[in-house]
Amino acid sequence: MAQIGGIELANVTKQFGDTLAIDSVSMIVPPGTYCCLLGPSGCGKTTLLRMIAGHDEPTAGDVLIDGQSVLGLPPAKRGTAMMFQSYALFPHLTCLDNVAFNLKVRGVAKAERRKQAHEMLDRVQMDGFADRVPAELSGGQQQRIALARSLITNPKVLLLDEPLSALDEFLRLQMRGNLRQMQKEFGITFVHVTHTQMEAIAVAELVIVMDHGQIDQADSARGVYDTPHTTYVARFIGGQNVLGGKVVRVESGAALLEDARGNRFTVPSGDPAPDTGETRYLSIRRDWIEMEKLADPSATHSDAVNSVVGKVWMTEYQGTWVKVSITLPDGEEFVANINDGTFFANPAREGDTVVARWSAEAVHSLEHRESSFDTSRGGMQA
Ligand code: ATP
Repeated sequence: MAQIGGIELANVTKQFGDTLAIDSVSMIVPPGTYCCLLGPSGCGKTTLLRMIAGHDEPTAGDVLIDGQSVLGLPPAKRGTAMMFQSYALFPHLTCLDNVAFNLKVRGVAKAERRKQAHEMLDRVQMDGFADRVPAELSGGQQQRIALARSLITNPKVLLLDEPLSALDEFLRLQMRGNLRQMQKEFGITFVHVTHTQMEAIAVAELVIVMDHGQIDQADSARGVYDTPHTTYVARFIGGQNVLGGKVVRVESGAALLEDARGNRFTVPSGDPAPDTGETRYLSIRRDWIEMEKLADPSATHSDAVNSVVGKVWMTEYQGTWVKVSITLPDGEEFVANINDGTFFANPAREGDTVVARWSAEAVHSLEHRESSFDTSRGGMQA
């Protein structure tokens, strides 16, 4: 099936009075892509979505769908449809009439719109519910009806604003799989706004991480998780420890860094290599850390390169791994996700002094960029 609904934003800016909601954003979403806009509250996700949908116009810049500028066009002429958080179903109409509604608005004759609505209900496996009203449906079933209602106009792009936030945990997991399946089946572009990191990386092929009206990183799900570009993305997505230090020396493609406590870490030196005294940042995945209890409870640093020493303040059993939260002497949190078998062979307890170490290959170099968003509480658990 041909993939449609390619989106291009060219230097799009949106100003609301004194608030610069979107700051000269350029991005490309290839046709038939499942894309998530991810970022903390107020970063501009909804504003960007509304400008693609045609519910708002940029102050400057251009929005293109399948290569054509859509500025000034209403949603129907752009080929966009929007599905809202609350689903906005008409309570007094049956599922069939809810789904047929957008065809009625477009003047499609009754028999034809009922036929198309039945077909669409069938595609979302809800034809058996055609005569029910929304109050007689579960949250997941309402979402399917809302999806069917949005898709009946054959949009090229479906925009979804926090589509899973009204559902409980169990349904959320089920429905995110359904959304992905529907997107594949219809071959159109989905742009899904969320502030939940796990949801974005589970569902999206393209994750766009935003902050303060700008894009920090547009990448595959694995790209934003495994190779974040900045300290902000590493902290916001989570699953990583972020450290920094001053360059002591550079040799054989690696820079040796030292932090204020005298801990030393290596990081790929990059090209051009940094000068001595410059500050550099790195991330190490929480699941790539080895941990060992120390006999000396007063130890505060380790002489070994690529290690830190701290006190365990919390352990959380997660099934296949144990999340060990360690406080470093400067108060920073460091997390090691230890495989459950390894952990329980010699379990660390709260208050134990431990050394956490990693291999030089596990280190990923970061650009320094912070956000006002408090990333210490925002990242994913894993
Ligand atoms: P959330 O996750 O909380 O919905 P968001 O990332 O979707 O946040 P937006 O709703 O796009 O953020 O808002 C971005 C910025 O623009 C915010 O500072 C917001 O207050 C501002 N803003 C959005 N809409 C308007 C408006 N109609 N008038 C004035 N300011 C607005």
